[in-house]
Amino acid sequence: MLDLTHYINGGHHEGETGRFADVYNPATGEVEKRTPLASQQELEKAVSAAKAAQPAWASQNPQKRARVFMKLAVLLEENKTAMAELLSREHGKTIEDSKGDIQRGLEVVEFVTGAPHLLKGEYTEGAGPGIDMYSMRQPVGIGAGITPFNFPAMIPLWMAAPAIACGNAFILKPSERDPSVPLRIAELFEEAGLPKGIFQVVQGDKDAVDAICAHPDIGAVSFVGSTPIARYVYQTAAAHGKRAQCFGGAKNHMIIMPDADMDQAADALIGAGYGSAGERCMAISVAVPVGRETGDRLIEKLKPRIEELHVGPYTDEKADFGPVVTKAAQERILGLIDTGVSEGAKLVVDGRGFSHQGYENGFFVGGCLFDDVTPDMEIYKAEIFGPVLSVVRTNTYEEALDLPMKHEYGNGVSIYTRDGDAARDFSNRINIGMVGVNVPIPVPLAYHSFGGWKASSFGDLNQHGTDSIRFWTQTKTVTSRWPSGVKDGAEFSIPVME
Ligand code: NAD
Repeated sequence: MLDLTHYINGGHHEGETGRFADVYNPATGEVEKRTPLASQQELEKAVSAAKAAQPAWASQNPQKRARVFMKLAVLLEENKTAMAELLSREHGKTIEDSKGDIQRGLEVVEFVTGAPHLLKGEYTEGAGPGIDMYSMRQPVGIGAGITPFNFPAMIPLWMAAPAIACGNAFILKPSERDPSVPLRIAELFEEAGLPKGIFQVVQGDKDAVDAICAHPDIGAVSFVGSTPIARYVYQTAAAHGKRAQCFGGAKNHMIIMPDADMDQAADALIGAGYGSAGERCMAISVAVPVGRETGDRLIEKLKPRIEELHVGPYTDEKADFGPVVTKAAQERILGLIDTGVSEGAKLVVDGRGFSHQGYENGFFVGGCLFDDVTPDMEIYKAEIFGPVLSVVRTNTYEEALDLPMKHEYGNGVSIYTRDGDAARDFSNRINIGMVGVNVPIPVPLAYHSFGGWKASSFGDLNQHGTDSIRFWTQTKTVTSRWPSGVKDGAEFSIPVME
């Protein structure tokens, strides 16, 4: 059994609490490693190292900081295949999918090589007599990130890359389910030339998260995970005077209009509904055909495709998707499928009995398709986070639009249509953060910002793009007067620049 470590002050650091979490290979169901779970004292060590290192890092000119990211991008590319193997072994997703996870993180690293441009302030010459005014963006100091299991490369890099490029030190508390890739990222940061103490990994659970949210020296907290924990971290961090951006769960709908290209829509649903076993916050989990005939045509196309899905371990190159992350996740998903059946939804494809020969103890769930799901059902309301697609039938466009509008979550949504009017109306009216038009997973690229609305997001600035530069910096505005010798006497009313 391998014991993993923290990464503190430029080196691997064994856990001191004696508390560990098991790390599984989801394909075999076996425990292969243990990860330490930090206490307040271990976080303290990381904060001290960050405090010592951050001022010198912030005082380097921004292009020197950016050069570390140029090297990191090359190292991530060179190590992508080996990292993907490490990632899949703990997460369960296919190697190709893990490469995509790393690639999406790498793109944020590439984005922040341009941070010097984004960090430029604003300047007004002659804001008053002899007065100039300028604003600068300065780092928050020490930032922390708390990340979910489903993207152990991409999401830590969403946060760490802009935080560090802006001159902050950054402490990552990754998911305890797949903690190895974040440690590998720490090693690559060091190889790229990042000073020790600027990127650190503190492994842990609720204890570490609570310690981060309460720590007086941590100025900003970025969180991605499920909605109840996102809400909790947002409230706790804010109560301790920190800025916080916390992203939660999702239930993403795809509207299929009667004029949609049905082959294209079915392809999109297969990939977006079942890729990564549905364990993506941007997975499509609800299909909403408009009109009975559209619904019938859709089910006819989807059913055989779902029955033919190839589910297997990450070592199987032909696998469309792998197991889910833990036994608990598998049991929860199977339980929700049972609930759907007892609620009266029609289970058109039943993946509950799926077992993979040679991997009988793996956490597999076969692809499932429900028809005739209604909005009052638990399987419609809950985020299942498994390979389960629900079809909710509607009669009109307005009825279809109403479903995602009224749903608790607001992460992603998509519409399939050939009608530009409908697509434009949909994009304008929908109360959801990321919208796809004939695109099933509308994840913005690194130079745009990623974030949902409603219960999918707490806080006001998104991940990556220009929002991330704003989140990880604070604005300081200087008003100066030269020549300074002008004498105009004491002024008792608020200064006004005439
Ligand atoms: P999770 O909420 O269980 O865990 C996320 C993080 O919170 C982990 O680091 C975990 O250690 C920590 N945590 C767990 N329980 C805690 C507690 N009681 N107190 C304090 N911290 C706690 O989420 P997960 O299962 O790892 O990830 C899946 C969820 O993440 C899904 O809901 C998915 O939709 C969501 N997600 C959202 C986005 C987004 O951008 N909106 C992206 C990816 C995943």
